[in-house]
Amino acid sequence: MNFVTVTRFAPSPTGRLHIGHAASAIRAHDHARAAGGRFLLRIEDIDGTRSRPEFIAGIEADLEWLGLTWDGPVLRQSTRLDAYAAALETLRGMGLLYPCFCTRAEIAASLSAPHGGPDGPLYPGTCRHLSAAEASSRFAEPHCWRIDMATAVARTGPLRWHDARAGDVTADPLAHGDVVLARKDAPASYHLAVTIDDSWQGVTDIVRGQDLFAATHVHRLLQALLGLPTPRYHHHPLLTDANGKRLAKRDGAPTLAALRDSGIDGVALADAVRAGRLPDGSAAASA
Ligand code: GLU
Repeated sequence: MNFVTVTRFAPSPTGRLHIGHAASAIRAHDHARAAGGRFLLRIEDIDGTRSRPEFIAGIEADLEWLGLTWDGPVLRQSTRLDAYAAALETLRGMGLLYPCFCTRAEIAASLSAPHGGPDGPLYPGTCRHLSAAEASSRFAEPHCWRIDMATAVARTGPLRWHDARAGDVTADPLAHGDVVLARKDAPASYHLAVTIDDSWQGVTDIVRGQDLFAATHVHRLLQALLGLPTPRYHHHPLLTDANGKRLAKRDGAPTLAALRDSGIDGVALADAVRAGRLPDGSAAASA
């Protein structure tokens, strides 16, 4: 039996990394290294409209600058589409998926009093009730695939997962409603691809920001449905600015590339982040 700790950093190459990403990558890296384990780099590039090759190159350069090393080849999700298709086929075979033809505008219009989920308004279930004949007559139209969450939850029964800070957590995937597992414009959604790849790569410990805590409810459900193991979770606090606001590039958080170009030593910066000291414009971690 092998008990090696495996962690990963899994950025989406839709922009340059900033100091918040660095803090997350450092945590995942150090968690593996402290345990004598492996740290993997995975590029979540299935969003063809927003992913860019120059951002992928930038991610690797940024991590190297910080003095972080990863094990084995970098996995790109764009090479894993067959695995996502196979999982979708399995879930379809279990009768848990349905095609959804709704546009964003139609969904918004059908929500008289939007009932919010962790990721925004909950899908009202319009297409869940389409007959098979009606659905197949519309397959030429753009459509995504959603999971029938109530049926899926009834099938798995109660589920739990463990978070290093929150302790034992009861999974609540129903709070997310019928989430999309295959997008109109991408062959898989984040939820599906991340769950499959974490299992396929043997990730034992998922170290990532608190912003993805709620998504774990959906991931735990997918693990149960697809017979995949459940890793340990370590959701860490996000970095905030001096006003307590989450650091985000759009709000002017400095990119790692900009810090590097300004002559800052990346290894020293990584050590400062480890010690809770951040460059100007970014302050302490909050819950
Ligand atoms: N690709 C996701 C992001 O950049 C993170 C995935 C994860 O850590 O689960 O937000």
